[in-house]
Amino acid sequence: MKSILDLVRGNIKSLKPYSSARDEYKDIAINDMIFLDANENPFENGVNRYPDPQQLTVKKVLATIKNVNKKNILLGNGSDEILDLLFRAFCEPNKDNIITLPPTYGMYSVLASLNAIEDRKVLLSTDFQPQIQQILATVDDNSKILFVCSPNNPSGNSFSEEVIETLLKKFQGLVVIDEAYIDFSKQESWLKKLNEYPNLVITQTLSKAYGMAGIRLGICYASEEIIQILNNIKPPYNINELTQQKALERLQDKEGVAQEIETILFERNQLAIALRSISFIEKIYESDANFILIKVDDANKRYNELIEKGIVIRNRTSQPLCENTLRLTVGTRKENEKLIKVLKEI
Ligand SMILES: *Cc1c(COP(=O)(O)O)cnc(C)c1O
Repeated sequence: MKSILDLVRGNIKSLKPYSSARDEYKDIAINDMIFLDANENPFENGVNRYPDPQQLTVKKVLATIKNVNKKNILLGNGSDEILDLLFRAFCEPNKDNIITLPPTYGMYSVLASLNAIEDRKVLLSTDFQPQIQQILATVDDNSKILFVCSPNNPSGNSFSEEVIETLLKKFQGLVVIDEAYIDFSKQESWLKKLNEYPNLVITQTLSKAYGMAGIRLGICYASEEIIQILNNIKPPYNINELTQQKALERLQDKEGVAQEIETILFERNQLAIALRSISFIEKIYESDANFILIKVDDANKRYNELIEKGIVIRNRTSQPLCENTLRLTVGTRKENEKLIKVLKEI
C-alpha cells in the first residue's frame, strides 16, 4: 500500500495544531498547582475546569481492556465524529472518493456528501458479503477509504475474515472496519491485527453493547501515525468531563456489561424463534448483533401497523437488497413479548 503520508491531504500535512492551555500543562491532578492559564471560573463545582484533551485516564483503562497501546487510541464525540475526522484528514474535496458497501450504515454516505467526496457504492452480494472483484474494479488512485461494517448494519451478519483480509492486503487506501456491534459478535475484533496492517483503522463505540448512547463516546484504533494525524485536527476538548467520568465507571464494570450482553443475546435468540410463528414474516436473517432483520410481505404496511400500536422499528425497504425488510432492535424480555403479541394481532 501507499504510505500514510501519501494518503493525507496536503493542508493537513502542513497544519500546525491548536495548542490548548491544558495541552501545555496537563497535570491537573497535582493539588498544590494554581491554574490561572485557561480563563476558567475558579470556584469548584466538578466541571469548572476544562476536561483532559487527551482523555488519558479513559484511554489507560481502554488500553488495558482491549490489550492495545494507548497511543493507538483516539476518542471521538461518538463514532460519527471519528468518521468525520477521517474524511477531513484523508479525503480531498471534489477530488477523492470513498468506497462503501450497501446496504450499510448511512453515515458514511452522508459524511461523503458533507465533505464533497464521491461515494462509490459497491453492493454486497445477495448473502450480504463484500464482492472483492467488483470492489477492486471500482477503485482508482483517488480511492482513499474503504468502509467495512462488520457486523453489518442493517443486515446483522459479520463479513468473512478471509474477505476482509484480502481487502486489507489489496486496497491501497485506509480500510475502516466499523465494529459498533463487535461485542455481540461471535467473531473476534480486528484489533489483534492492528500491528500487521498499517492501513487498518477500527472504530468501536460505547453506544451499543456498553449501553451509553447518551454520552457520545466513539473509539478509534489505528497506527500511531494515523492517530497522531487525527489528534492534530480534532477539536481540543471533544470529549467532555461528564462523558469521561461516565465512560470510566462503565468500562470498569466489566461484569455488568458482560451480563447485559449475554442477556441481550439470549433474548435475541428467543425473539428469532418467536418470529418464526408470524405468518407474514417471510425471512429472518441470521444476526451477529443486537438486532434482527426480517423480510415481510409489505414492509410499509407492517411498519405503520406497528407504529399505531406504539412500537417503533426501522423500515429498511428503500435500501438496496432490503426490499420489504424491517430491522428490529432486541429490547427487554417484556418489550420483545409485547412486540410478538402485537405482530400476532395485526
Ligand atoms: C450505531 C452505530 C454506530 C454508532 O455511532 P455512535 O456515533 O458511536 O453512536 C456506528 N456505526 C454503526 C454501523 C452503527 O450502527
